[in-house]
Amino acid sequence: MLSTLIKSFSRSTPSLAGAQYRAYSRQMPMMYPILLSSTWIVAYVHTDIAPLWLTVAIPSLFTAACVLRMLHWLKAYETIPSPEEAAKAFRATMLLAPIIASSFTVWSFLLFSYGTPYTKSYLAFYMANTVVVCIFCLMHVREAALIVTLIVNGAFIGFFAWAGQPTFLAMALNTALVSIGMLVVLSINYDDFARRIAAEADASAKQTEQARLMRMIDDMPVAVMTADPIDFKITYLNDASRKLLRRIEHLLPIDAEAMIGASIDIFHLVPDRQRRLLSDPTRLPHRIRINLGNEVLDLNASAIHADDGNYLGPMLTWAIVTSEVEAENKIRYLAHHDALTGLANRVTLNDALLKLTSDALTPGALLLIDLDGFKVINDTLGHKFGDELLVAVAKRLSELCESHSAVIARQGGDEFAIVLTNVSTSQCDTITSDILTRLSEPFVLERKRVAQIGASIGVALFPKHATSAEEVMVRADMALYVAKTAGKGGVRYFTTEMQDEFVAANRLENELRIALSSGKGLSIFYQPIIDLRHRKVVSREALARWYHDELGWVSPATFIVAAERSDLILKLGHHVLHEACREAMSWDGGETVAVNISASQMGRSELLSVVRSALDQSGLPPERLELEITETALLRNEAASVAELEQIRALGVRISLDDFGTGYSSLAHLRLFPFDKIKIDGSFVRDALDRADCASIVAAVIDLGNRLGVATVAEGVETLAHFNLMQDLGCHQVQGYLLGRPSASPYDDILNPDLVTSS
Ligand code: C2E
Ligand code: CA
Ligand code: CA
Repeated sequence: MLSTLIKSFSRSTPSLAGAQYRAYSRQMPMMYPILLSSTWIVAYVHTDIAPLWLTVAIPSLFTAACVLRMLHWLKAYETIPSPEEAAKAFRATMLLAPIIASSFTVWSFLLFSYGTPYTKSYLAFYMANTVVVCIFCLMHVREAALIVTLIVNGAFIGFFAWAGQPTFLAMALNTALVSIGMLVVLSINYDDFARRIAAEADASAKQTEQARLMRMIDDMPVAVMTADPIDFKITYLNDASRKLLRRIEHLLPIDAEAMIGASIDIFHLVPDRQRRLLSDPTRLPHRIRINLGNEVLDLNASAIHADDGNYLGPMLTWAIVTSEVEAENKIRYLAHHDALTGLANRVTLNDALLKLTSDALTPGALLLIDLDGFKVINDTLGHKFGDELLVAVAKRLSELCESHSAVIARQGGDEFAIVLTNVSTSQCDTITSDILTRLSEPFVLERKRVAQIGASIGVALFPKHATSAEEVMVRADMALYVAKTAGKGGVRYFTTEMQDEFVAANRLENELRIALSSGKGLSIFYQPIIDLRHRKVVSREALARWYHDELGWVSPATFIVAAERSDLILKLGHHVLHEACREAMSWDGGETVAVNISASQMGRSELLSVVRSALDQSGLPPERLELEITETALLRNEAASVAELEQIRALGVRISLDDFGTGYSSLAHLRLFPFDKIKIDGSFVRDALDRADCASIVAAVIDLGNRLGVATVAEGVETLAHFNLMQDLGCHQVQGYLLGRPSASPYDDILNPDLVTSS
C-alpha cells in the first residue's frame, strides 16, 4: 500500500502542479498558527516544570521560523506560479517538512521527561493532534505528508516503546493507524482532485482549440456556412461567406446581415430536393451548382458528425463561380468550334462522323470543300480580307444547309467540311451544285472590295462508299484530291478507281523512297540549250530519270508529282542539285547547268543552304548554275519565295522562269522578280506556228525580255519550222528534240550539225 501511495505521489503534470500549488498555498498559512498556538499552550503548561530554554527559547525559535514561512505563503496566496516556481516550492516543502516534524518531535520528547502524568498525557495528545493537522494541511503535497507521518509516528511509537508506557504506546499506535487511514483517504481525495484538474485542463485545452478552429474558419478564404439539419436555418457564416453574400445580396430575399437564422431555402429553386439531400448524411459530401439570377454558385455540402457519430448538420463550403463557368463554357466552345467562323472544328466534325457511321440505316455524306483562288486573295488583299472572306463563305454554307441535318466545319485554312445526315445521292447532287454556284458568286467585302473565288468538292457517301468514320474521311479526301487536280470548280464522288490510284500512288511513293535512300535506279539526263546567235550549247537542263526493275522507266511527270505529295521532293531536289553541279564540273565548254526547282522546295528556308552546299561540295562557280522556277511555285508563297530567290541570286546563281505560257502567264509576274531567263513553254512554241495570236504573244514576251534585259528560251523546238520561227521572232536560245534529246552523257547529245557548231 505504501509503495502505491508513493508511486501515486510522484505523478504530476504542469496543470496539476499549478492547481496543487494554488490549493496548497491556501492551506499552508493555516497550519502554522495551529502549530504555534498548540506549541505555546504546551510550553505554558510546562512553564514551572521544564527549563526556560525549552519553554520559551525553543518555542520562540519555532515561532520565528513559522512566521517567516507563513509570511512567505501569505505572499504566494492566489498567485499563479510557473511550473518551475511550483516545482521549487514543492522541493522546499519536501526539505522543510522533515526538519519541522523532527524539530517539534524532538522538542516534545525533551519536555516529556519533565512532565507529570497529566502533562505527559497532554503532550502525547498534542503530538497526535498536531500530526493529524499537519497531514491535513500537507494534503496537496502528499510526499511531505507521508514523510511527516513517518517521522512523527515512527518517533512516537519508538519513544513510547522505549519509555515502556503501555498506555502511551497504545496511543501512539492509535495515532499511527489514524494517520495511515487519513493518508489513504487523502490519497483517494488527491486522485479525485488530480482527475478533476486533468478534466478541467482537458476541457480548457478543448475550448482553446475550438476557439482557434473557429477563428481559423472565420478567417478562411473559403466561404463556410452551416445549417441546422432539422429546420434548415443557417447557424453559422464565416467572414468569407458574409462577403460573398453581400455580393449577391440583390439576388436574395434577405439582407446579407440577417442571414443567421434565415432558411437555407433562399438559395434554391427546388428547396425540397435540397432539404432531402442535406438532411441525409449518407448522401454527403455532395457538390451542387446553383444558378441564382446571373450568378452561379458552387456548393460543396459535407456532413459534420459529433464524436459519438451523431449527425450535427451540413457544412457548406461555397463560392461564386460565375466567371469560371463563363470561362469554362468559352473553353468548351473553343474546343468544339472554329474561332474565326464559329463553325464546328475538327473535333466536332469527327464526332458528327462517328455519330453518322454508328447507324448503318441512316444514309449520309461527307463533303470536303476546298476553296479555289483563296490563297491569291489572301496574299494580295491581306489576311484581314482573307478572314472576312472565310467568314462570308461560312455564312453562305450555313444558309445553304439550313434545311438539312448538317454539321458544317472548318478544317483549317480554306478547307471546309459538311456532314449531311439522312440525304439521298440526288439531294447530295443538288447541295454540291448549289454550293459551287453560291461560292462562285462574288463576295463584297469591307471597303467594297470584291472577291471572286470558286470551290472544289470531294464527296464520300455513307454507307455506299465507306462504313467507318475514318474511311469516310479518307475517301472524301481522295475525291477532293481528284477534284482539285482535275481542274477548278468540280465535284467528285469517291470511286473505287480513285482508291486503286491512291494505292498505286502510295506504292510509287514507297518505291521512290527506297530508290532515294539506296540511289538505285535514279539518274540524271541532260538536254542541251543552244544559243541562237553563236549556234553553240550554252547550257544543259538536268532532268531526273528513274528506272524501276518492275515498273520500267517511270516518267518524271509521275514520280515528281508523287514526290511533291510527300516530303520526298526535298530529298530528290537535294540529290539532283548535288549531282548536277558535280557533273557540270566535268564539262569542258564551261556550259551552265539548269536545275528544276519544284514549288514544294520553295519558301521553306532550305533552298539557299542546299544550293550553297551543292556549289561548295562540287566547286562549281555559282555563275554556272541556273535554277528553273515556275510561275506557280513563285506565287505559292510569294513573299518568302522572292526573298529566298534574292538571296540565292546574290550568290551569283541565275534564276529562270520556267514553262512561261502555262499557269497564270501573267506578264506582271515577270516584274515580281528580276529573272535572268524566261523559258517559253513548248505548247506555246508549237501553237505559235499555226496561230497568229500565239505568235504575237511569244513576240511580246521576247520583246519584254529584251527590254528588261532578260534572255528568252523557246522550249519544245521539234522541227526546223519551230526553229526558224523562234529565230525570226528574236528568241535568244532554243531547246528541243530537234537540237538534242535528254541523255545520260552530255557528249551523246544528238546535235544537228547544220544548226549547231560543236565546240
Ligand atoms: P520541264 O522542266 O518543262 O522539262 C522539259 C521537259 O520537256 C522534259 O520532260 C523534256 O524531256 C521535255 N522535252 C524537251 N524537249 C522536248 C521536245 O522537243 N518535245 C517534247 N515533246 N518534249 C521535250 P521530262 O524530262 O519528262 O520532264 C518533265 C518535267 O518533270 C519537267 O518539265 C520538269 O518540270 C519535271 N522535272 C524533271 N526533272 C526534274 C527535277 O529534277 N526536279 C524537278 N523539280 N522537276 C523535274
Ligand atoms: Ca525545266
Ligand atoms: Ca519547261
